Amino acid sequence: MMIGLLGGGQLGRMLALAGSPLGLRFRALDHNPDAPVRNVAELMTAEFDDLKALERFAEGLDLVSFEFENVPVESVRFLNERVPVFPPPDALEWGQDRLLEKSFFQRLGIQTARFSAVRSRPDLERAAGEIGLPAVLKTRRLGYDGKGQFLLRTPEDIPTAWNSIGSPSLILESFVPFEREVSILAVRGRKADTAFYPLVENHHEGGILRLSLAPAPDLSLELQAWAEDCAARVLEALDYVGVLAIEFFLYEGQLYANEFAPRVHNSGHWTIEGAETSQFENHLRAILGFPLGSTAAVGHSAMINLIGTVPDPRSVLAVRDTHLHLYDKAPKPGRKLGHITTRRPDPESREIAVVQIHSLLRG
Ligand code: AMP
Repeated sequence: MMIGLLGGGQLGRMLALAGSPLGLRFRALDHNPDAPVRNVAELMTAEFDDLKALERFAEGLDLVSFEFENVPVESVRFLNERVPVFPPPDALEWGQDRLLEKSFFQRLGIQTARFSAVRSRPDLERAAGEIGLPAVLKTRRLGYDGKGQFLLRTPEDIPTAWNSIGSPSLILESFVPFEREVSILAVRGRKADTAFYPLVENHHEGGILRLSLAPAPDLSLELQAWAEDCAARVLEALDYVGVLAIEFFLYEGQLYANEFAPRVHNSGHWTIEGAETSQFENHLRAILGFPLGSTAAVGHSAMINLIGTVPDPRSVLAVRDTHLHLYDKAPKPGRKLGHITTRRPDPESREIAVVQIHSLLRG
């Protein structure tokens, strides 16, 4: 079987690595000749909207999936006329635009922060009055890792916010003073079979994920059931196939959906060592129509992203029950270069391991 991947980043690399024991082969499309997938899959270098290249890419493929969220939907639809594409292109379309995404959650009865579309500066003033401050102004499309966002604390911040990211395609969301950020990873197979991983607690800095704890500490069965119910609605509404992640804010015991990602997700990297079946393997099982693997956690894991610099592998691997994943990327400030997962028998020893790893990363 030959699987095509749109995008050749670390997610594609980890999908290809997970597919290798199943005898799968991969061809990735990326504009970057140094894409992290290059040494574990065939890499075709082209732009995502180059239809001639897409034709050549599709030749001989059994299935296509994507690991990058901002692939043009038209390109995915074009491919879908030639080779089956999973997850469905609609999922990509809804997930690419924060306004469509939040409206979609609302239609499904899934709670979100209050929000309003913003198309002009007077519109921003109106929306700020309606929603109240503090609020977060975001670009509707192409924002990731906290890019294209502005926190408005007082009405005096409006001109600066508009000058920094003003455009006709924005969304203003009320600021949720969350106690915790959590995410759920869900998977749905070709026969509509579903499975859910335990909720993960996520810590961001500067909009970038730094640390995930899985299962989330002090996780109640009610909260897990609530998140699973939200995910089940999204999966069903999209007739989804593959792994999907939903990020939530937890505030006063309530879950507020922030966004979904129609792909494997950074907050699911812990599953490689910390779950019976990794998110990458389960994504492949789902799109191939194979039985899904167990999503049960094995022990208590922490995943720490390596951003901008990479530590000496010897010092990381000297920490007990700790695993290092490097993505073969050139170091650059703010770039995700790899991650560390440590798996322990209980939440207390996991906490100790996280402190130990953080102190060695500080050098
Ligand atoms: P996003 O790009 O929407 O995932 O936002 C990146 C990070 O910014 C989130 O993980 C939160 O930490 C923070 N953030 C985004 N939107 C809000 C909001 N409405 N209220 C509070 N924090 C937010």
